[in-house]
Amino acid sequence: MTEAKKIAVIGAGWAGCSAAVELAIAGHAVTLFESSRTLGGRARAVEIQGKLLDNGQHILLGAYTETLRLLKTIGVAANDALLRLPLQMRYPSGCDGMDFVAPRLPAPFHLFAALLRTTGLSGADKMALARFSTTARWMDWRLHTDCSVSELLERFDQTERLIKLMWQPLCIAALNTPPERASAQVFLNVLRDSLGAARTASDMLIPRTNLTSLLPQQAAAFIEQKKGFVKAGASVQKITASDQQWLLTLKNEESTKELFDGVVIATQATTAAALLTGSEAEVPAFDYEPITTCYLQYPVGTRLTAPFYALTDDATQGVWGQFVFDRGQLDASQDGLLAVVVSVSTAATELGQEALSAAIAAQLASSLQMPQLAQPQWSKVISEKRATFSCTPGLQRPEEKTVFPHLVLAGDYLASDYPATLESAVRSGVKAATLLKQHFA
Ligand SMILES: Cc1cc2nc3c(=O)[nH]c(=O)nc-3n(C[C@H](O)[C@H](O)[C@H](O)COP(=O)(O)OP(=O)(O)OC[C@H]3O[C@@H](n4cnc5c(N)ncnc54)[C@H](O)[C@@H]3O)c2cc1C
Repeated sequence: MTEAKKIAVIGAGWAGCSAAVELAIAGHAVTLFESSRTLGGRARAVEIQGKLLDNGQHILLGAYTETLRLLKTIGVAANDALLRLPLQMRYPSGCDGMDFVAPRLPAPFHLFAALLRTTGLSGADKMALARFSTTARWMDWRLHTDCSVSELLERFDQTERLIKLMWQPLCIAALNTPPERASAQVFLNVLRDSLGAARTASDMLIPRTNLTSLLPQQAAAFIEQKKGFVKAGASVQKITASDQQWLLTLKNEESTKELFDGVVIATQATTAAALLTGSEAEVPAFDYEPITTCYLQYPVGTRLTAPFYALTDDATQGVWGQFVFDRGQLDASQDGLLAVVVSVSTAATELGQEALSAAIAAQLASSLQMPQLAQPQWSKVISEKRATFSCTPGLQRPEEKTVFPHLVLAGDYLASDYPATLESAVRSGVKAATLLKQHFA
């Protein structure tokens, strides 16, 4: 056991929670500061109509190894907390879509078996998908030079229908960036761990509880059990170097200043840059993309025939929904509640909340061939303007390490194989904690 140090973690998103848990396990005296009253950052609970929902519907992959490890460490039974489904891209029958579900076989057989069974794709579409998978595997999912996803699909000779039903929705859902601007290399990394991965890694996991209860709240209880502190509603305004330590000043509490041996800045990139202004450490600026989730409540007993479906969207026709989740199949207390996701949602949000939810309700009624869905009891649109950074080709992302050995960064925007995801946030938290542990060892 090395000597316990006082460490501040700024930001209780999933990156900050992961860093704080790792440091607490190592025996350090951790204080986790969160400016909001609710823990979880961009993956947190919000109260709507007296129910605890999320700021946005999230989906995890079986390949999220560090997130699953963290859940286990803090005592969350992932099998209860997450609904595990095989890799799939299923459209409701009224959508002119496809029905693709990977059976539980080792890769690549799961993919080929799924293709044999898939309805809604022609022989040419299926051949294109098989060719994509075989070529990408042969290239070890790596490109010499990054390019856009659109260029990659053209190079791999993909059919128009496959692009529309499979690649475009997958790219937008995973990278929150449209194919013409999205990084082909990061897209290939995600596909490597889903289409190209072992059976369990390619599974899709949907939270059954709200996101704050799923991880941040349990992480906070774990940290407190290890004699650490979790301070919600505490915004760190300033960090000043003081001898070999850091002096933290809290917003609206000029008198509240506290010294720490080490600091993890686990805020969004813009806040990290602001906190580091005037120091030798820098955080670059990113472009961001929004994500919108529309919740629609229907009478209890309203059910879809699967927990979630892909939807065909068409912005030019005012059809916005990309995926619909039946929350009642995840959590009995949310019976009749549907969550519809619109990624890269700038144009959709320009419509205004009322018009957007009416358009989405009409889309559901038609795609799912359930006319009653046109009239929800209530609806609520949540738009996260800076949901994720724009994941463009060759984007340079900084490392956790800074010029100061006792100050590190954590967050989904840092260098990673993955786009901005829960897993990149958690992995980054682990890396940040490892750097501080090594420094103080
Ligand atoms: C609507 C939506 C849908 C998404 N869907 C998915 C998905 O399906 N799958 C997936 O894997 N990922 C998804 N993501 C991405 C995922 O949520 C993020 O990548 C992840 O939550 C980022 O975590 P983080 O800890 O890096 O940052 P954040 O969550 O942004 O955490 C930073 C924290 O720092 C706090 N903070 C900021 N300034 C201060 C300060 N001065 N003092 C104290 N605290 C401060 C903030 O309040 C915040 O809690 C989605 C994101 C959104 C918004």
